[in-house]
Amino acid sequence: MIASLDSRTAPFERLNSRYVRFLDVLRARGFEGEIAPDYANRTVLATDNSIYQRLPQAAVFPKHAEDLERLAKLASELPHRDIVLTPRGGGTGTNGQSLTDGIVVDVSRHMNQIKEIDVEARRVRVQAGVVKDQLNAALKPHGLFFAPELFHL
Ligand SMILES: Cc1cc2nc3c(=O)[nH]c(=O)nc-3n(C[C@H](O)[C@H](O)[C@H](O)COP(=O)(O)OP(=O)(O)OC[C@H]3O[C@@H](n4cnc5c(N)ncnc54)[C@H](O)[C@@H]3O)c2cc1C
Repeated sequence: MIASLDSRTAPFERLNSRYVRFLDVLRARGFEGEIAPDYANRTVLATDNSIYQRLPQAAVFPKHAEDLERLAKLASELPHRDIVLTPRGGGTGTNGQSLTDGIVVDVSRHMNQIKEIDVEARRVRVQAGVVKDQLNAALKPHGLFFAPELFHL
């Protein structure tokens, strides 16, 4: 049986005009990632690894750090200060932390590069959308892993 979203996430909920304005200006300012106010993307990101559901106004998928700067700068400007931005990685938080009725800033689509592995110092530099399995696959040839490793407990 396919579970359906409950009435809190019904499609008749219209986009808030403040959010529509924010997304229009964001686009005009040169945001290079995708801006997704469509119901399909909103529905996908209305759930995470928790029991909760919350329908966002939109999702955005930043391409790079400059896109994040564009978002933060715009949200700090007076007409947009009540806009809610909620970052999201894998959505694996178990308490609904990545759910929002504002805008989901999903960094997992594009910002998922492993920038540097310093084996000597046992340090890695990654973008915020890297998931642990991906990191551990890259670390394995060096005999390292990022904890916790559930399968070895
Ligand atoms: C099977 C399982 C086992 C786990 N075991 C452990 C454990 O042993 N130890 C432990 O500490 N945790 C454990 N966790 C929890 C785990 O740490 C979190 O699920 C994980 O850190 C969430 O990462 P995420 O990228 O999926 O974040 P999300 O679920 O996407 O987001 C979590 C929160 O972080 C914020 N956030 C996400 N990305 C960013 C960003 N780039 N910048 C700022 N804020 C951001 C979100 O807004 C949200 O509030 C476990 C989870 C699972 C499912």
